[in-house]
Amino acid sequence: MKTVFSAGQLAHDPRHEISDGELKPAVEIPARAEIVRARILEAGMGDILAPEEFGMAPLARVHDAGYLDFLDSFWTRWTEAGRGGEAFPFVWPVRGLRADPVPDHIDGLLGRYSFDAGTPMGEETFAAARASANSALTGARLVAGGDRAAFALCRPPGHHAAADYYGGYCFLNNAAIAAQWLRDAGAARVAIFDVDYHHGNGTQAIFYDRSDVLFLSVHADPREEYPYFLGHAEETGIGAGEGFNVNYPLAPGADWGVWSAALDAGLERIARFAPDVLVVSLGLDPYEKDPISRFRLTQDDFTRLGARLARAGLPTLFVLEGGYAVDALGVNCVNTLTGFEAG
Ligand SMILES: [Zn+2]
Repeated sequence: MKTVFSAGQLAHDPRHEISDGELKPAVEIPARAEIVRARILEAGMGDILAPEEFGMAPLARVHDAGYLDFLDSFWTRWTEAGRGGEAFPFVWPVRGLRADPVPDHIDGLLGRYSFDAGTPMGEETFAAARASANSALTGARLVAGGDRAAFALCRPPGHHAAADYYGGYCFLNNAAIAAQWLRDAGAARVAIFDVDYHHGNGTQAIFYDRSDVLFLSVHADPREEYPYFLGHAEETGIGAGEGFNVNYPLAPGADWGVWSAALDAGLERIARFAPDVLVVSLGLDPYEKDPISRFRLTQDDFTRLGARLARAGLPTLFVLEGGYAVDALGVNCVNTLTGFEAG
C-alpha cells in the first residue's frame, strides 16, 4: 500500500492548546506524523509519495468560500491587529446571536469560523492544512486509478472541520474533500467510515442531506465526550440524506468486543449501500493508552480492525485522523494498514 505525505504538513507546529482550564503543551504536533512515517519505513509497508498539488477547487467543493478566505487571510489579519504567535477564538455566535453578517475584525472572524478554543492557529497553519488535503486527494487519485488501497498520512487531521468552521485540531476536512473528489471523478456512491474515538462532526455535517455519501461513525457518546454537540444515534440524516448517516455512540470503557460489534454493524450497512469506494477516517485514539481516550483497544485490535475493513472488499482510502499516544501511534496505524493488506 502506498502512503502519501509531504514535509509541508509539518509546518503547522503549535506550542500550546487550551485544555483543563490551562494553557498546556499542544498534543496535535508534527511528531505524530513523523512517528507514523518512521514506522511505515521500518515495516517496509511500501512507497511514501509526495502529494500532487490540486489547488483550491477541490477544497471549495466542500468548504464555504468565506471560510477558505478566512483561513487564507488569517495571518495577515492577525498580525495587522498587532498580534503574533498563536490565535485562539473567545467569542462565538451561539443561539440568539448572528453569524451573519460576518464580522470584519479578526477576533470576530475567529469566532465565526470556529467551534472550540482548543485549536491553535499560526502562520503556517493553512499551508500545512492544504498540504494535508493534497495528500488525501493524491491518495484518492491512487484508489480511483486502480490501487486496492492507499494511505493518506494526513496531519493536521480533518474530521472535526465542517463546511465553514474549524476545531478539534482540524481545519480542512481531508476525508470529505477526498470523498467529494471521488464522486466528481465518477464514483456513484462513497462510504466514509470514521473510527476515531471522537465523533466526526464535520464530516457528518458536510454530507448530512445527501444520499450519495454514506457517513458512519463509531465513537464515544457525545454526552460524555468531545465534541459534545453532535454524534447521537438519532442523527440519521435529513431530506435526501435521511437514512444515510449512522452513528454508533459507545459508553466510555468500550473494549474490542463492544467496539467491534458496532464496527460489524457499520460494515453490514456499508454492504447494503454498495459503494464504489470506502474512505476510512482512521483515528488511532480508541487505543487503551491514548491520553485523551477512554476506549480500550489494544495494539493487536488495530490489526483486527484492518482485517475486518478488508473483508468489505472495496477500494479503500485510509485518511489519518486523531491519535495522541505518540509513541504507539506508528505501531497502531501500521497495524491497521498491514492488517488490511493481509486480510
Ligand atoms: Zn479523536
